[in-house]
Amino acid sequence: MWKEKLRNSVEIGLPKSSVELKHNRTTLGVSTLTNTEYCEQQAELNLLYPQIGKTDKIMKTGNISEMIISPLKQVEYDTLIEDIETKPMVITKFQIYSEIDGVVVGGVPDAVVFYSGVPYLLIEFKTGSPNNIWKNEINQLLIYRYLLEEMGFDCTSIRNLIVKSRSGVKIGEKGKKIMKQLYKIGNYDLDKFKNQIQKINVIQFDNHVHLIDYYEGSIINLIRRYLGLYTDLNRVPTNSSNLRKCESCIYFPKSKRFNENRITCPYFKNVY
Ligand code: SF4
Repeated sequence: MWKEKLRNSVEIGLPKSSVELKHNRTTLGVSTLTNTEYCEQQAELNLLYPQIGKTDKIMKTGNISEMIISPLKQVEYDTLIEDIETKPMVITKFQIYSEIDGVVVGGVPDAVVFYSGVPYLLIEFKTGSPNNIWKNEINQLLIYRYLLEEMGFDCTSIRNLIVKSRSGVKIGEKGKKIMKQLYKIGNYDLDKFKNQIQKINVIQFDNHVHLIDYYEGSIINLIRRYLGLYTDLNRVPTNSSNLRKCESCIYFPKSKRFNENRITCPYFKNVY
């Protein structure tokens, strides 16, 4: 099943949702769903004004994954399928998606590592304080995990990781060392794997590898809650009740990140 889904996503594109979504969307991205943890209004504005809403932080995250994993080579999908089926280990990233209650949800995780034809590591790279991970970061990773299984991959052995690196720290060779450690993990059982992760935490104080547990029942409930924000066509998005969040928001006129080309958050439109 995963081969057909992978092929279709490349040749035809993602299928359209069979239920109506806000703003005439035909699909929803995983980050659109999980960004609502920060502020539902901001997630909606990002959806409406994608170019304007794109933040520097998102760009940097992309660079970090490339710095840690050497830039990935672009290959045809049939080459990727053949590599997954025949090579002992493949590190890759590709669009994963599934239809959930009539809504097509998709996204591209930073890395999926396959061992002997099955995914063994699912990895997201984030910047910030290495020891802290946010709810939206965890939920994003776990929704990817859910979608991967729904695409037909055998996820019984998969480990879900967030590699969090201090902002502004050059990763270079240090980061590559982490990845080498991670690759070796493929040969360990879960207990040894956890030990190995702890060792990485000690070795690399500027980078912390977080191993995230997955519970299918709770993640599907979470996805349904997120989908409700976009299938209720009359819903007015709620604003963040935390002014500190607003102060660093690109739609808040008093924020350093705001510029006049950006629209103003509707909640502050009449104030500034
Ligand atoms: S200014 Fe505040 S309420 Fe408005 S989008 Fe930004 S975080 Fe949300």
